[in-house]
This record gives sequence, C-alpha cells and structure tokens, in this order.
Amino acid sequence: MSNLLPTESTAQECAAADSARVLETYPAHETDLGHLRIRRILPVRQRRMIGPWCFLDRYGPLSFTNEKPMDVAPHPHIGLQTVSWLLSGEIIHHDSLGTEALLRPGQLGVMTAGRGITHTEETPVENTGHLNGVQLWVALPEAHRHTQPAFGHHTELPVLEEPGALIRVILGDWHGHRSEGAAYSPMVGAEMTLHAGTSTALPLRPEFEHALILLSGDAAFEGQPLLPDTLYYLGAHRSDMQLSTRAGAQVLLIGGAPFGETILMWWNFVARTQQEIAAARADWEGHLRFDDVRAYHGARLRAPQLIGRPITR
Ligand code: MN
Repeated sequence: MSNLLPTESTAQECAAADSARVLETYPAHETDLGHLRIRRILPVRQRRMIGPWCFLDRYGPLSFTNEKPMDVAPHPHIGLQTVSWLLSGEIIHHDSLGTEALLRPGQLGVMTAGRGITHTEETPVENTGHLNGVQLWVALPEAHRHTQPAFGHHTELPVLEEPGALIRVILGDWHGHRSEGAAYSPMVGAEMTLHAGTSTALPLRPEFEHALILLSGDAAFEGQPLLPDTLYYLGAHRSDMQLSTRAGAQVLLIGGAPFGETILMWWNFVARTQQEIAAARADWEGHLRFDDVRAYHGARLRAPQLIGRPITR
C-alpha cells in the first residue's frame, strides 16, 4: 500500500487495496469527567487518530432530577478544536473569550483553541433532565495550530436525505455539503440516522480514512452487527460502506485525510514537542496565557503532574 505509484496502474492497485481493506474494532474504556462517568472511545492505544480526529468521549443517555451531571470546571486547551454534539439534553458553554452558548441536539459547538483558550461545560439550571452526546477533538494542522482562539455555535447544518439514511453534516463536508463550522484540514464528521428496515451503501471518499460509532439503535456494517461504545476503524480506500438496520439507528461517521503530522497529546493539550506541553502547563498553573472564564463560579482545574522528565521553560 505504501508503494502506490501515480501511474495508469493506480486504479488496479486501488482495487487490490480494496480487497485488503481493514475493519478494526476497539472497545471504549470508562473514565470520569468531573462527576460524570463517560466512555472514552478515542484515543485507544493502537489507534490514536482518524484523519484529524484525535479524541472522542461518549456520555449518556442518562436522566436526572435535581442534579447537574455535567460540570466541567475551567480548563485550558491548545492546538485543537473541541466539537460538542448532543443527541438529547443541553450543555451551556462558557469560555475566556466571553462566549456563552446554550447547545441543543442537532447544533454544533466548535471551539478552536489555537494558541490557548479556557472553557467550561455545564448542564444549565433549566434543563430537560436528559443528557446524551459526544465530545470530539480535532487536531489543528501546523499552519493553524497557533491561531487566535474562537468559538462557533452553528444551528443550521446541512441535512441530506440519502437512500435509507438522513445525514447531518457536523464538521467538514459530506460530498460537497459543507458544515459552516471552521475546519482546517480535509475531514468529515456526520450523524447518520438509518431508517428502519434499511440496507444501503453510502458513498465514502477513498482518500479519507473513516471510523463508525453506533450511537443508538441497531446497525450492521457489511453484515457485522455494531456494538455500542465501540470504535470501528474502516481504514481508507473505500468508495462506499454497506450499512443495515432492523429497527433504525443513529451512527456517527468520522473521517479525513490521514493527518500526516505526528502530534503529542497530554491532558487537554495537543502539541508537537514536550517543551510546548510543559510551557502550556506552566502557563496554566502560573495564570498566564489562559484567561479566566468569568461566568463560572468555582475553582479552575489543576493540571496533573507531568510524568517523566520535567521540562521547564
Ligand atoms: Mn474541554
């Protein structure tokens, strides 16, 4: 596969690659986000990225009364975008730019951390008593990773009816239908609602690598039933994917051009060197670079200790 030549034989070589295309299965592991028990689906040890997507937390569905299941105190990010996507319930986002955004199902909250931002995510006081969603991170490429921080709240996203499925484009583009969320490398993030009794082949871009996550209902990929809270890595070189469901399903598709840059992830930071990580940590602990979230009443999160060789500025 690494020897593909740009000659007229490419099509045959791609066809050969198709016959060897992968399907890798990675179960999530449980961890805590504040008081909320969540499932971390990405990264896993053997699979750190899918295109630029480098992190995926899954929470809910859960119901609550007189509680505040999501209460993530002020914490910093660099070098990435956070993508919030709800299936039910609501989250209120605040950040150090002064943004306040009340996110609801079907709406995109995309925060570009760039050189540095602080944010909080909470269940708002007035709520439906339900919470169900995902948070993803997208690594910013070299040319954009030091950009000014920004937040986008997008309520009008492309919704397309494909045979057997409704596609909501979250970030990037689905065959020319582009989310208005800021994207800095070729990618797709989409929620696919499969209609009951469907068996369909949905088109994929062969130059992208892709992964699927079952969000609700029952679905099978090429006849293999999908388990919840599991990452299915499809690799690249696929021009379509065969999905079927009996009673209906919601499936998350993430993909993109292979990222081509080696990233370093530590805590809430995406960088390239350990020095950058140590500097961001020192700035957070020293109350530099990262401004406060003035709307949040409570202490900021402390950075964990950097394990291994401590590097100071
Ligand atoms: Mn965060």
